Amino acid sequence: MLDVKEPGFRENVDLMFHRAVAHVDLPPGLAEKIQICNSTYTVRFGVRLRGKIETFVGYRSVHSEHMEPVKGGIRFAPEVNQNEVEALAALMTYKCALVETPFGGSKGGLCIDPRKYEEHELEQITRRFAYELAKRDLIHPAQNVPAPDMGTGEREMAWIADQYARMNTTDINARACVTGKPLNSGGIKGRVEATGRGVQYALREFFRHPDDVKKAGLSGSLAGKRVIVQGLGNVGFHAAKFLREEDDAIITAVIERDGALVSKDGLDPDAVREWIGQNGGVKGFPGVDYVENGQSVLEMDCDILIPAALEGVININNAGDIKAPLIIEAANGPITANADEILREKGVVIIPDLYANAGGVTVSYFEWVKNLSHIRFGRMQRRNEEAHALLLVKELERLSADKGLGWELKPDFKRRYLQGADELQLVRSGLDDTMRKAYQDISETWNSRSDVHDLRTAAFILAIERVAASYRAKGL
Ligand code: NAD
Repeated sequence: MLDVKEPGFRENVDLMFHRAVAHVDLPPGLAEKIQICNSTYTVRFGVRLRGKIETFVGYRSVHSEHMEPVKGGIRFAPEVNQNEVEALAALMTYKCALVETPFGGSKGGLCIDPRKYEEHELEQITRRFAYELAKRDLIHPAQNVPAPDMGTGEREMAWIADQYARMNTTDINARACVTGKPLNSGGIKGRVEATGRGVQYALREFFRHPDDVKKAGLSGSLAGKRVIVQGLGNVGFHAAKFLREEDDAIITAVIERDGALVSKDGLDPDAVREWIGQNGGVKGFPGVDYVENGQSVLEMDCDILIPAALEGVININNAGDIKAPLIIEAANGPITANADEILREKGVVIIPDLYANAGGVTVSYFEWVKNLSHIRFGRMQRRNEEAHALLLVKELERLSADKGLGWELKPDFKRRYLQGADELQLVRSGLDDTMRKAYQDISETWNSRSDVHDLRTAAFILAIERVAASYRAKGL
């Protein structure tokens, strides 16, 4: 493995943007306007903890306001910095445009190792951070709507929603100020699993395109494919679990902070996650191989590699050694621009982050709409749908009896046919439709244009064209 220094995360996103924008016909200056980050607010605040005041540094970056509100998660990690937050905000702009969610791009981060704090301390810190952002409209249902990211989840989103509501007691839409909330605080069914579920739907759609599958040197379906997952957090865990349980893929390795587990017969993500919860890492998990240098397992032989932890893990130093023919970027920015070029030259097919992990923001969009409409999806239609279905079933049964035809509907068909869609089914249906449509758009651009040689460039081109169209419509 080499040891060469790479450009920063934001520079990497910009390099990918520039590669794509060269294929788009834009009026002078518009490319720069789209690429540039509008603003980044840095806040330093103190919280009294364990008898002394501790100072924290946080960021909220707004990349593009061509549509409002702007949208993007809040990350809690020790190494959070302005460059990273701006890169992630830019990716949000392109992602939202690509999957047609009506948002601009934003992102936030707090420099903190959440594992070092008690729950009540984390609540104090999160509420204070939320207060600092909300008082500058950097959390606001109409202007800036955060969501979970690395190190944050439903619990933090509930604290943020409550903090905003306390500061805006008459705002009837207060709950729409943040997404990824628990159900009892205005969340939506299917949000926790959404990004991992989106990765599964993305892969399913990819395998519905045999010509694209062939370009990766693969064939057939997801069944039996050997999958390596890096990061068994929210995104990686759900992706691995669904691919194994519903598509018969084999999870041959899981890479975590403290090393990797390898098993050619396959790992059970539920069991590994439970082990991590009890033991703080993967080490010691029974019956499989343990590799201390987890990073080296990225280079193992497999069919599909799913980096789902953090950025820059596949870089100029290890790209040449990657053996996976297909990589799906569940994390944001796991492949640097240099590595991307090396992999492309090797013929590796990369399903890019701005598409692959867009399931989260898609279901966040549904949650935001639910909060603004103040009613759960399916509440008005479900029983009406069931009554309509029952009419048809009864009529078929009557006809069969009257004419002595002896028709009998299978009980399982009848049960399923008579069931109206609830919120979870509607969310999954909306997410599936979004992921299918976006892939079809990207694939068409990839396959129909002789100047476009990869899915990432195709995805960026579509996103840039849509952001540009928004600016044009505004008269800019
Ligand atoms: P998470 O905090 O739930 O999980 C991250 C996992 O990665 C943890 O299990 C952690 O132990 C592991 N990890 C950390 N450092 C590692 C390392 N060096 N090697 C191996 N594993 C390591 O975070 P998440 O929400 O699952 O986010 C993961 C990625 O997905 C991030 O890039 C994030 O921006 C992106 N993403 C998340 C969402 C979402 O809805 N949560 C949406 C879109 C994109």
